[in-house]
Amino acid sequence: MTVRTRIAPSPTGDPHVGTAYQALFDYVWAKKNGGSFVLRIEDTDRERFSSRSEQAIYDSLEWLGLKWDEGPGVGGPFGPYRQSERLGIYREHTEALLSRDAAYRCFCTRERLLSMREARRAGADSGYDRHCRDIPRDESDRRAAAGEPHVIRMKAPLEGDCVFRDLLRGEIRKAWSTVDDQVLLKSDGFPTYHLAVVVDDHLMRISHIIRGEEWINSVPKHIRLFEAFGWEPPVFCHLPLLRNADHSKLSKRDNPTSITYYRRAGFLPEALLNYLGMMGWSMPGGEEKFTLEDMLRELRLEDITLGGPVFDIAKLRWLNARYIRENYTPERLMPVLENWGLGRERLLEVLRVAHSRLEILADWGPLTSFVFSDSVPLDPQALEIRGRTSDEVQEIFQMAVWRIEGLPEMTPSALEAMFRNLGEKLGLKLRDLTRPFYVAVSGSKVSMPLYDSMALLGSVMCRVRLRRAIDCLGGFDAERRSRTIQRYEDLFGRGNY
Ligand code: GLU
Repeated sequence: MTVRTRIAPSPTGDPHVGTAYQALFDYVWAKKNGGSFVLRIEDTDRERFSSRSEQAIYDSLEWLGLKWDEGPGVGGPFGPYRQSERLGIYREHTEALLSRDAAYRCFCTRERLLSMREARRAGADSGYDRHCRDIPRDESDRRAAAGEPHVIRMKAPLEGDCVFRDLLRGEIRKAWSTVDDQVLLKSDGFPTYHLAVVVDDHLMRISHIIRGEEWINSVPKHIRLFEAFGWEPPVFCHLPLLRNADHSKLSKRDNPTSITYYRRAGFLPEALLNYLGMMGWSMPGGEEKFTLEDMLRELRLEDITLGGPVFDIAKLRWLNARYIRENYTPERLMPVLENWGLGRERLLEVLRVAHSRLEILADWGPLTSFVFSDSVPLDPQALEIRGRTSDEVQEIFQMAVWRIEGLPEMTPSALEAMFRNLGEKLGLKLRDLTRPFYVAVSGSKVSMPLYDSMALLGSVMCRVRLRRAIDCLGGFDAERRSRTIQRYEDLFGRGNY
């Protein structure tokens, strides 16, 4: 069997360290077996799609040195590799499922679905009530031909068990009665994840699906589709979820999770890969520092353990320090530092912002140090907004985090517009609103102009700093968080949390 692995990230938000983790194992497994590592962009959720995020996926993988053999930019025999360019393929395959009676058109309106969900909430049943499942085919054809809006749903078996194997977990069994009649094709003609992933994994001849554990519950739906098409499913290998120190799922609230953060903070890609390689796996001799080549030589998927590996930044820092000390002389580290943030171009960018604030050249140090640091000193008192409680300030920071995340571009003018709008909605003068932001971002009351400073730092680093400022003020509990989400949605509509 030719080994072909893939990662299939969705370009929404920042590329996650979990994606890097998965990419590492997919990459190593393909290379070890002389196979191919494929990158597919799953961009069918048009509401959440962001081209900045798509670019960040490419940049992150390149930075990590995980080169894809097939995918956007490099092409390959099974392209296109962006799902939005494959709509015809999904439509055709949906037709095939309809004609095999493995799928059906559902004409239920939004209102009906909402009231159904409401009515079912109390009971044990969740999911769609299969109202349209038995509409005769000719009636369904007629209604579709007359232009009645509809989606296509999968016909899940009503009885028996779905049985499949996961390479790390062995046999997994799930009653079909718990599997929903999943929507496969939406009314806008875009496929859902479930249809697209099955069709593409098959057409792209993926032999091993190595991905995060959070997808394991979707497998029965996929198995059903593989069967309906008459295809052999690939090998499934679900990696354990990365965890915070308290064993909750790794999330950006507790830890920076964006690959961009690790890059901008100055972690070395080889140290990050090495560290991710230690998540659920270890070298046979127990060595903690190892290279990609070592991993390539030694990896056996069966050896991955499921104990919920903790992603511990302190440990990663320790490993990174070993790399700096053991692999880089000062002479070798110099170009790495230049590349990271001390190159002429970057310094000039910073200087353009600092220029108007320099009195003597040595002001450069204190004025710009926040640009070259991972964290800045925070004093809760300096984070106050006149007339607002500390809880309210935390909420405001959190809302700004979500607003910044939604900005298509992190330019000074976009930031200014964002702050003006935020100030208006919150009933705050711009000056009062922005003051604590200077402090959160730069650690100092007097610094360079706020919007330029934030643009220099970039979206990810600004958000990390604002989250730290929230923590410095005491931090959110779950209840406050959901209240803030509510308030945010009242003011701005849905966000990306
Ligand atoms: N698009 C999914 C994601 O965002 C892919 C999941 C999978 O690997 O099947 O991670």
